[in-house]
Amino acid sequence: MTKRIMVTGGTGFLGSHLCERLLGDGHEVLCVDNCFTGTKGNIAHLLDNHNFEFLRHDITFPLYIEVDEIYNLACPASPVHYQFDPVQTTKTCVMGAINMLGLAKRIKARIMQASTSEVYGDPEIHPQPESYWGRVNPNGVRSCYDEGKRCAETLFFDYQRQHNLEIKVARIFNTYGPRMHPNDGRVVSNFIVQALKGEPITVYGEGGQTRSFCYVDDMIEGFVRLMNSDDGFTGPVNLGNPGEFTIMELAEKVVAMTGSRSEIINNPLPSDDPRQRKPDITLAGSELAWQPGVVLDDGLKKTIDYFSAMLSRGEI
Ligand code: NAD
Ligand code: UDP
Repeated sequence: MTKRIMVTGGTGFLGSHLCERLLGDGHEVLCVDNCFTGTKGNIAHLLDNHNFEFLRHDITFPLYIEVDEIYNLACPASPVHYQFDPVQTTKTCVMGAINMLGLAKRIKARIMQASTSEVYGDPEIHPQPESYWGRVNPNGVRSCYDEGKRCAETLFFDYQRQHNLEIKVARIFNTYGPRMHPNDGRVVSNFIVQALKGEPITVYGEGGQTRSFCYVDDMIEGFVRLMNSDDGFTGPVNLGNPGEFTIMELAEKVVAMTGSRSEIINNPLPSDDPRQRKPDITLAGSELAWQPGVVLDDGLKKTIDYFSAMLSRGEI
């Protein structure tokens, strides 16, 4: 059945892939974004599709529109971007959630929230299951995002309990792939761009901290399965690839795969940088029959190809 689906944050990295996927599935898609970190370039190839519309709007302000489903992705995701204007980041997480939940309540739409592994903070439990409540600094430099996203989860569950809203909450672990912003400071894009340009690869700290990297196509499949899951299943559910790598391993892999002559250097570790992160995806397996299929080497190759093409066009 064709649905009218709104994607907030639709010009961003994940949002643009989600819009593309939903159009491919035959739906009408309304992409809502204030283009803070997203670009119209990410959706340029969709603008001719008569099932696609773009609306420039900041979700910290109310929106009156009629749709069947809402994917709420609007929020800068990279530490560099979300720390640029931390007050706006909290507003986007909290007021944005209130506005989108209010909209969903009025029009009786099902709504999915893009939450994050950051709700676990710097975790003492490894890997992290959904039942873990996390270890988050409430007033550090990452708090605008971490606490904003935690409060957004609270709002989603209170709207569900209080107003019977159909909610879905995905806890997204580090995801990478084409259309990441080349300058957004996230580790995969940083290392690839540095390697391709022959610049030093900036490992923060000793590089022993770990992350688990999920390729974008796997993540989008997880979003769609979650949105279409049984009424009774709300999550929160972890979505991510359990393959765990140290940041130094990632740097070495990128250097090897690009054939770069870049040297690996150590820069200071940002404060509150989580030491380890790996999703327990048992719940996604049992409730959504979902698991990631793209291994890091294959996903990195596609991402390297994307940034190489940008470099050869002089765009980075
Ligand atoms: P992104 O920065 O590429 O996309 C975010 C989009 O939201 C951008 O297009 C931006 O312009 C838009 N936006 C920001 N504030 C807005 C506002 N107030 N009103 C309207 N639009 C606004 O990031 P992404 O990686 O695509 O992340 C998408 C979502 O997934 C975010 O909510 C993020 O927190 C979450 N997430 C992503 C990851 C990841 O690894 N990519 C991990 C965990 C969670
Ligand atoms: N990182 C790094 N060099 C960079 C960018 C990031 O060593 O140029 C590290 C960062 O300190 C963190 C990890 O890579 O330990 C992942 O960083 P990212 O900003 O991608 O995501 P997050 O910290 O939110 O997981």
